[in-house]
Amino acid sequence: KANGRGCHCFFEPEMNLHAQIRRTLRLDLRRALDAREFELFYQPQVNVRTRKVGTLEALLRWRHPESGLVAPDRVIPLVEEIGLIVPLGEWVLEQACAAAAGWPGQEKVSVNLSPVQFTSARLVAVVTSALQASGLEASRLELEITESVLMRDTESTLATLHRLKQLGVSIALDDFGTGYSSLSYLQRFPFDKVKIDKSFVSSLGRTAASTAIVRAVTELCMALGMSTTAEGVETEAQHAALVALGCTDLQGYLFSRPCPAEEVPALLQKLNGAAAEARAIAG
Ligand code: C2E
Ligand code: MG
Ligand code: MG
Ligand code: MG
Repeated sequence: KANGRGCHCFFEPEMNLHAQIRRTLRLDLRRALDAREFELFYQPQVNVRTRKVGTLEALLRWRHPESGLVAPDRVIPLVEEIGLIVPLGEWVLEQACAAAAGWPGQEKVSVNLSPVQFTSARLVAVVTSALQASGLEASRLELEITESVLMRDTESTLATLHRLKQLGVSIALDDFGTGYSSLSYLQRFPFDKVKIDKSFVSSLGRTAASTAIVRAVTELCMALGMSTTAEGVETEAQHAALVALGCTDLQGYLFSRPCPAEEVPALLQKLNGAAAEARAIAG
């Protein structure tokens, strides 16, 4: 079975997996959650100035009994389609807040919100109760939304963002530059952070345009009082270029891949310990 079935999933048509996921989730999302088939991994964002981890992003994983670890890009659209993203998103918020409450250095946790979840009437109540249940200070929770949310109904989007900010949580604009970006969004909506999409990071040093775009975005964000996290930093060359261009935080495989919750304390110790060493050498 190990051989036959184990390899089988590799060749399994995508449709088949989709059908399985749909069936499993529609039958009983609760059961899948209780059976710990879903899990959050965490990936650090390193602050350029302090060289320490300021925030960790929660990233959903599904341990499918047969197919192994399934990436969120393949799961979330299906969960949305069958109308279960609100309860799943609620679980993600609860888990992430509870995990962060136990982190040693008061790091923040950032949680991705799907557009459907963002427009749900329950969102503010769900965030409030996740904070209460975990005891996490609101200032340690960051919510990531994408540009697609902003294009919908500006008035109600603004109202929701302001209510969230009143709770004390911060807001990040994720994947900036990939959707229907408008610079006016940066002025109109109360973001604390803009995450520069990894497509710009990966083309740094290869196209002059990407360098110019990243520089323009970081300068604009700085002028507007927002921090900038570059996503998908994989090489030392990208790291150096992003620091020179004024990015305030960096996230990517160069520092760490997303890792299971239980590995976070050791990861923080390693990354922050390396920072202390670098400061000692520099200073
Ligand atoms: P995202 O929010 O933009 O998350 C960053 C993605 O980039 C993650 O993919 C992460 O593993 C990947 N990444 C990080 N560093 C590097 C790098 O150096 N190189 C490359 N090539 N990739 C890197 P992941 O975990 O597969 O998540 C994909 C997307 O799924 C996320 O993109 C987010 O939009 C969505 N997602 C993940 N978890 C959740 C969740 O709990 N709720 C919702 N609604 N969406 C989620
Ligand atoms: Mg994100
Ligand atoms: Mg992103
Ligand atoms: Mg993305």
